[in-house]
Amino acid sequence: MKIIAALENNSGKFLMEELDLEDPKDDEVLVKVAACGICHTDIAMHGGHYLLGHETSGTVVKTGKKVRGFKPGDRVIAAYTYCGGCNACKGNRTYQCSHIYCFFDGKRLDGSTPFSLNGKQIFPLMRQGGFSTFTVCHKNALTKAASSLDLKSLAPVGCGVMTGAGSVMNCLKPTKGKPLAVFGVGAVGLSAVLAARVCGCDPIIAIDKIPARLNVALELGATCCINTGETENIAATIKNMCGGIDYGFDTSGSHTLLENLRLALNKDGKACGVGIGGNINFCRKERGEGKTWESPDTGWSMPQKFIPQLLALQEKGNFPFEKMIHFYPFDQINQAFNDAENGRVIKPVLVME
Ligand SMILES: [Zn+2]
Ligand SMILES: [Zn+2]
Repeated sequence: MKIIAALENNSGKFLMEELDLEDPKDDEVLVKVAACGICHTDIAMHGGHYLLGHETSGTVVKTGKKVRGFKPGDRVIAAYTYCGGCNACKGNRTYQCSHIYCFFDGKRLDGSTPFSLNGKQIFPLMRQGGFSTFTVCHKNALTKAASSLDLKSLAPVGCGVMTGAGSVMNCLKPTKGKPLAVFGVGAVGLSAVLAARVCGCDPIIAIDKIPARLNVALELGATCCINTGETENIAATIKNMCGGIDYGFDTSGSHTLLENLRLALNKDGKACGVGIGGNINFCRKERGEGKTWESPDTGWSMPQKFIPQLLALQEKGNFPFEKMIHFYPFDQINQAFNDAENGRVIKPVLVME
């Protein structure tokens, strides 16, 4: 079928193009896209050769022969794709699927893609291709969205929201009443703040250089915040606030922030991060004190298990991630990308219908 998708030209501008989309194969699903969020990974991969967009929500149109559990009309959220058959997948660590890089690259296991432009193959980043009017996804990418929220607000759950919340709830697993700090409160960091509130952390410290983001963090459950643009010694400020943190989460990948996280972390403290290129190598003494670091890709989330959990919390009003969304019509994708890159909005979501 013919679809409309936003592809980048040589100078990085998105243009609306008419693409061909194959029928779903046995294990695939044709989805009419309702909305798609813009994630930091899209910005990082900007200028490449992918069809971007991997925070898709939409409606099932048609299912492949071997697809069970979905039917036309179902509301779905797409997350990362996993094979379901490798050792990691069988061990419920789908986020460590041995084919994850193939899927990241937009390829089926046989190397093909359902998208093409004038006969030339187009690869959808993470096998989603959300910046389009329709997409064909692997069934394992999809979770049914039983939620009272409108479909377009659900788009970012499959990547940014799940990653931030999962890093806290699946990796750090904080004890109630203990201090937790989030370094960098974009959409992923704010989702971590929301999760920390669900877990009952106290205090919840939000750290960022953009005052508007810190204000949203306070609105969503942070109990105090640190503006890095106005604070000389972040670690000392944290210690003054609460004597040090038991849990830290970094989204920045910034060497300076990670160093401050390291210095502020208490004995037996747990820290993790998803910022590109950033981690902490604790010294022997620190390891001896029980300090640990993890890099939980996708927040160690199994989408079909974790997304319903988050939506149930959202439904009760305990996880209002929709407050960080700013909607744009699909044809304003260049503006939305620009605003995301410049930090003018927290979570831009493109609306296709
Ligand atoms: Zn993402
Ligand atoms: Zn697998």
